[in-house]
Amino acid sequence: MAKILINDGIHPTGEKMLKDAGHEVSTQNVPMDQLAEKLPAYDAICVRSATKVRQAVIEVCPNLKAIGRGGVGLDNIDVDYARSKGIAVINTPAASSRSVAELAFAHLFSIARSLYKSNRSMPTKGDTEFKALKKSYAKGFELYGRTLGVIGFGRIGQATAELAISVGMNVIAVDPYVKEAELTIGGPQCSAKCTVKTSTMEDMLANADVITLHVPFTGAPVLSNAEFAKMKDGAVLINASRGGTVDEDAMLAALESGKLAAAGVDVFIGEPTPRKDILEHDRVSLTPHTGASTVEAQEKIGIELAEKLIEALG
Ligand code: NAD
Repeated sequence: MAKILINDGIHPTGEKMLKDAGHEVSTQNVPMDQLAEKLPAYDAICVRSATKVRQAVIEVCPNLKAIGRGGVGLDNIDVDYARSKGIAVINTPAASSRSVAELAFAHLFSIARSLYKSNRSMPTKGDTEFKALKKSYAKGFELYGRTLGVIGFGRIGQATAELAISVGMNVIAVDPYVKEAELTIGGPQCSAKCTVKTSTMEDMLANADVITLHVPFTGAPVLSNAEFAKMKDGAVLINASRGGTVDEDAMLAALESGKLAAAGVDVFIGEPTPRKDILEHDRVSLTPHTGASTVEAQEKIGIELAEKLIEALG
């Protein structure tokens, strides 16, 4: 039996799995400034993004066997140091793919029919300027037959491509490390397989009506002025990957010039205080980094974390 500190919460299904496996679980949050004092009493810790597990804390926990992170990124854990001490570092990379893909499409549907704009204007003007609002949102567009450019054809990029093909879009995917992927289109009632080969950035930029990013942030933006210049006029951009993958000045300039018709943004440089000119832009659909925030993703994260922890703790 191991003692596990769940410091940022876990879905009840995951908690039950850990307890059923015979482990002692504490879900009482230990504040960061008390972690070095309290964590030595535990064999494992599970975090989301709030708790940081840095070298200084790991150093004083000689009994620690596993660190679990519910989610994809491991930026809040000193992974190399932990592994050098023989500590298993676990994350749940696959659990949220479908949810993030659906959020990217939520932005896209919202932009296609100006939902994000009408939800802002209807409460104040819907009763006095109904006809004017109806006219201003009259130029919606269908997604069917349009081309989606997918930058990053990993788990989430592929899940997004599956949704796109399901609604009748064409997909051009770009990924230097993926040549092709077999996608499953549809769901429990009806599904089909479909192979999509990746293409070049130039081809994608020149032909995509909508571009969606699903890449990690590696220190430099993937889309800057040069890439925006190569896009179709009136393209739509969706970013539900990581802040910094898009040069935000270049995105705003592209919105001003009309190169971009609109953008859907879930991730920002400088979270949790994104810049105001993006938040206030009338052609930007906004969410506060909620790509993985669904009950299904949270349950899948809890289950995957519990399974991997049980295995790591023997
Ligand atoms: P993944 O590792 O499965 O896929 C990422 C892909 O991007 C890889 O195939 C990689 O080869 C490719 N890639 C890397 N650099 C590239 C580049 N310059 N151009 C084109 N392709 C490139 O990762 P994933 O699970 O699909 O996650 C993708 C991103 O989504 C990550 O940044 C992750 O942090 C983010 N994410 C966001 C949320 C959210 O709440 N919005 C939730 C989960 C994950």
